[in-house]
Amino acid sequence: GEMVATPFNQLIKEYVNLAFHGMRASKQPINVDFDMQLDESLGTVPLVVEDFSRVIVNLCNNAFDAMRERLSADNRQQSDKTENHYEPRLTVKTYSKDSNIILEIEDNGPGIPEEMKDKIMQPFFTTKKGTEGTGLGLSITNDIIKAHGGTIEVYSKPGQTIFKIKLFG
Ligand code: ADP
Ligand code: MG
Repeated sequence: GEMVATPFNQLIKEYVNLAFHGMRASKQPINVDFDMQLDESLGTVPLVVEDFSRVIVNLCNNAFDAMRERLSADNRQQSDKTENHYEPRLTVKTYSKDSNIILEIEDNGPGIPEEMKDKIMQPFFTTKKGTEGTGLGLSITNDIIKAHGGTIEVYSKPGQTIFKIKLFG
């Protein structure tokens, strides 16, 4: 693929939407609140669109899976569902810092256990059953970000996971 100056926020919106509609059309759709905090002053960013778009979709799909997991875990524990106030929320932020472009994709799923954080980027590492997960999403995501000269970091605690991508300007 070729690096092309790409309107950043527009690409983010387009592929977050695509991932959301894919999830809604799946066998286990969930309701998700969106919190989109896109810095409208961001212009174009040089990107390989077909690659970077996969990053957005991969991270959103992982977030949806995580929140679905928390939802079903909560439902198993809580037989009286009216008492269950967990509301899945995806927060997507873009901003610039020191001439770098930052993208954060955050979910309020179960979080990633500390001892697992080192492993999640490894090819074929998955906690998903059967054919649900290939374990390749984050490994491919990491490769794509590296090819863009950027970095990806994960911050997680129980109830919150943030994937932070930095592209150097
Ligand atoms: P897959 O989605 O096929 O399992 P990935 O490489 O995309 O493979 O992710 C690897 C693993 O990292 C997942 O199986 C899951 O255990 C963990 N993971 C990734 N994203 C999240 C997230 N947002 N919240 C909790 N766990 C996550
Ligand atoms: Mg995945």
